[in-house]
Amino acid sequence: MSDDNLLDHALVRLDAAAKHLNVDPDVIEKLKFARETTKVRLMIRMDDGSRKSFLAWRCRYDDTRGPTKGGIRFHPSSTADEVETLAFWMTFKCAVMNLPYGGGKGAVQVDPRQLSKAELERLSRAYIQAFARTIGPDRDIPAPDVYTNAMIMGWMADEYAQIVGQAVPSVITGKPIALGGSLGRNDATARGGYYLVRHLREDLGLGDKMRVAIQGFGNAGQFIAKLLAADGHSIVAVSDSAGAVACSEGLDIERLIAAKDRGQSIAATAGEGGHRGIDAEDLVGVDCELLVPAALENMIHEGNAASVKARVVLELANGPVTPEADALLEERGVIVLPDILANAGGVTVSYFEWVQNRQGFYWLLPEIHERLRDIMEREGRAIWTVAQEKGIAMRTAAYVHALSRLAEAIEAHGTQS
Ligand code: GLU
Repeated sequence: MSDDNLLDHALVRLDAAAKHLNVDPDVIEKLKFARETTKVRLMIRMDDGSRKSFLAWRCRYDDTRGPTKGGIRFHPSSTADEVETLAFWMTFKCAVMNLPYGGGKGAVQVDPRQLSKAELERLSRAYIQAFARTIGPDRDIPAPDVYTNAMIMGWMADEYAQIVGQAVPSVITGKPIALGGSLGRNDATARGGYYLVRHLREDLGLGDKMRVAIQGFGNAGQFIAKLLAADGHSIVAVSDSAGAVACSEGLDIERLIAAKDRGQSIAATAGEGGHRGIDAEDLVGVDCELLVPAALENMIHEGNAASVKARVVLELANGPVTPEADALLEERGVIVLPDILANAGGVTVSYFEWVQNRQGFYWLLPEIHERLRDIMEREGRAIWTVAQEKGIAMRTAAYVHALSRLAEAIEAHGTQS
């Protein structure tokens, strides 16, 4: 799939859901386009004294259900189309979880691994200078995404505080704990997916000892590996952007994380502790019960969907399965737990962070986990029931579930907005 029609492909899912609901065509018309997408060029001073510029965007896709919410991605191949698509997914994700938010997203077209820490800080601050009037605790609330993290959110929150002349922690989530971040935000994306699979395990036909393959070993990939391994499941294959390793007895997760912490690829562990190097392209076809795409968009496509052996796909990444691959997987009876549900744990704990910032009272970790588990189980069960009753895939059911909430809110706003 070429990159310039990602949003068109995403809208296929909206049309599929609309067929199962009696929604006003006005609602679909409103949800087909981003409300606003701003593009800027950020100029920063590099350590060698030169100036360099980077393209950056912030999209507020739809704010019918509340302030727009969504991460900021630093990636060399980010485009406006990708940002709008990710913001569209956030709109549906927040509606799936019944969070009082619309959907947004931001990106900087940069390879952050090529920048020094000081350059990265200047770039992060420049982003907030450019978008200080777009974001706001009741308007648009950023968070981390691919290649951004708590440290970057901390710099951004600090820059915003300097611009407006006071600390406003609720303008951004995923902050360091010391700056008003929430406990449990770091592993929330993986933990939400973990609670979902645990709750639906029997309905999904999964046993209590699964073989798991994980594509991508960033925040979501590392934490899901830990959570599942701690329950006695075997992580039989893992890939990252530079390679992949497999072990039919189960990989040593700590060894993989140690390689990452040293700045190496997980492929560097091949040959150690029974780890065997494999082609990253082959990860999708590894023999396992649960496949967890936790990297980027469009990784499971027409060309490799037929090789999937897993019974269930847990989408911790956004948009990892193309619509064409969806159809091939469905034909073969593979159940896809869709991104807008499966990875919604991240934005859900972001919501908890925002609530804690506003009330100035902070919850303990067990409370965060319990609230997250309750929401994942409630919305996961509701979507499972829609899928069973209507005889449709979980993805379509998730869109139906979200669209009915969005339609209700759009109608409640009246005809003048
Ligand atoms: N970037 C994450 C996502 O795609 C989290 C967004 C947030 O916490 O606002 O869901």
